[in-house]
Amino acid sequence: MSAKLLSIVCPCYNEASCVSAFSEAIKDSVPSNQLYEVVFVDDGSTDETLVKIKELAKQEKGILRYISFSRNFGKESALLAGLKGAKGDIVVTMDVDLQDPPSFLPQMLEGIESGYDCVATRRCTRAGEPPIRSWFARRFYSLMKHFSDVELVDGARDYRMMTRKVVDAIVSMPENNRFTKGIYQWVGFKTKWIAFENIERVAGETKWSFWKLFKYAIDGILAFTTAPLQIASWLGILCCVGAFISLLWIYIKALIVGNPVAGWPSLACIIIFLGGLQLFGLGILGAYLSKVYLETKRRPMYFIREEG
Ligand code: UDP
Ligand code: MG
Repeated sequence: MSAKLLSIVCPCYNEASCVSAFSEAIKDSVPSNQLYEVVFVDDGSTDETLVKIKELAKQEKGILRYISFSRNFGKESALLAGLKGAKGDIVVTMDVDLQDPPSFLPQMLEGIESGYDCVATRRCTRAGEPPIRSWFARRFYSLMKHFSDVELVDGARDYRMMTRKVVDAIVSMPENNRFTKGIYQWVGFKTKWIAFENIERVAGETKWSFWKLFKYAIDGILAFTTAPLQIASWLGILCCVGAFISLLWIYIKALIVGNPVAGWPSLACIIIFLGGLQLFGLGILGAYLSKVYLETKRRPMYFIREEG
């Protein structure tokens, strides 16, 4: 193939049961004449993951490297550290649990060779996933489609091969609230998509609970659209128009049939309703403000405890 170096970046969090299988699968899948390195990012695992990775690094000196965090900073931080640490002219990010089939690597390399800047993958099915999770995921993608400038691809995975140019663009994005799926789309570049059916993880279990995913989706919305900030204004206008029409109606009715005192329960409902709307608007403001607050601290995304 080419003399270009391929870096395989792989975030790992408590994946002791997967790393060896992953390393073997990579050996079998990368074309024999392709120069490559594997960069494991240990995201503060509390099990034997780092020990296993170190063993592998000893066996495969010069091919396998690792970066180990001081604690669990999350997958986004691990991906960033891996992209920064990768030396390759071409970089691919993939999960260690073999849900991102390494057998696609030759095909992805061909895509890059043929002139694409990026070869991305997406799942075309969500088989094996709880239905409620799929339902929320679909709502999230359709919300983002309507309100955000970046078009997220439903089912897009973080399994992506990129040229050095794309990696440099992604690493240069300074934000702390990193929503990689959005960042990939935002930087642009010519992308080829490969679709595949969902594959269950080879061992271990998912690190993403429903609530973790839900919060991640909210982070994505806050990072890539400001549309919710306008909701309060639109609701406010709607309420004003409604109130004005009601006022007219009450005035005309009073002229025709007099003004008997009535309607206190409905008044209480209206007050509570408006109070709710205001709190809702304030809540949205608060969500953005908290992100601005966290962003202005400019805290590092991770600390490296050791690497090798
Ligand atoms: N991961 C990580 N840090 C975390 C959570 C997950 O580095 O805090 C890694 C994990 O080891 C795996 C990848 O991110 O390689 C995807 O995680 P997982 O398989 O649990 O997610 P799923 O495939 O279920 O969405
Ligand atoms: Mg997985």
